[in-house]
Amino acid sequence: MNGTSGPGPLTGSRASAIGVMGGTFDPIHYGHLRLAEEMAECLELEHVLFIPAGQPPHRGAPRTAPAHRLEMVRRAVAGNPRFVADAREVARAAPSYTVDTLTALRAELGPDRPLWLLLGADAFLGLPDWHQWRRLFDLANVVVAERPGPFEQQRDAMPDALRHEVVRREVADGAAAGSAGAILLRRMTPLDISATALRATLVRHGSVRYLLPDAVLDYIHEQKLYT
Ligand code: ATP
Ligand code: MG
Repeated sequence: MNGTSGPGPLTGSRASAIGVMGGTFDPIHYGHLRLAEEMAECLELEHVLFIPAGQPPHRGAPRTAPAHRLEMVRRAVAGNPRFVADAREVARAAPSYTVDTLTALRAELGPDRPLWLLLGADAFLGLPDWHQWRRLFDLANVVVAERPGPFEQQRDAMPDALRHEVVRREVADGAAAGSAGAILLRRMTPLDISATALRATLVRHGSVRYLLPDAVLDYIHEQKLYT
């Protein structure tokens, strides 16, 4: 039992692609879900694994216990057979590095299955601070949901090391990518939702309805999270 739920995401046909959506998910919201939905559609992903970070290495301890963040993810993805809540990082006591998670997934999938790391633009710009970040490209492709605004401006915001990787690796669409090593920059429906803003609103007992699934909001109220 590896903590996943759903129809055995790693046992499908050899060619089918898998997406990985990491985050703190404190709480999960429609920005995360919509990013995964749009990228899953355009890349024809068989499954997207939502993997809440246990102890994220890049930031302070999340406000909410890992078990609650995992349960919110479970409730958010219930009813979408393509989406899977994956407990592997939450189950670990040590900080979870994405490179370790992708190494484990690659070992499970074998060398030929396309693996896509799904990132928002803000996360992508911070990539050079991640542990062994260049190794990520040996393990997976990366799709970046770009923010609205001129493309060139966003490229200018990239650290040089990252821009260098984009120049080397960028593909025009998912079909041009192999199992790992490509970078795809894609627009998504802009949704200006952040967990930080949701937490701030919840603390002052404001409404966050329609910014995240009702099932997640019900759980937040049941468990008296963010109060
Ligand atoms: P926080 O405000 O606590 O940082 P967050 O809403 O940014 O939370 P994270 O867990 O930090 O959520 O983000 C996980 C992933 O989701 C990252 O790749 C991030 O870029 C992406 N993401 C977060 N919010 C959005 C959004 N509104 N639209 C698109 N992508 C998003
Ligand atoms: Mg964030």
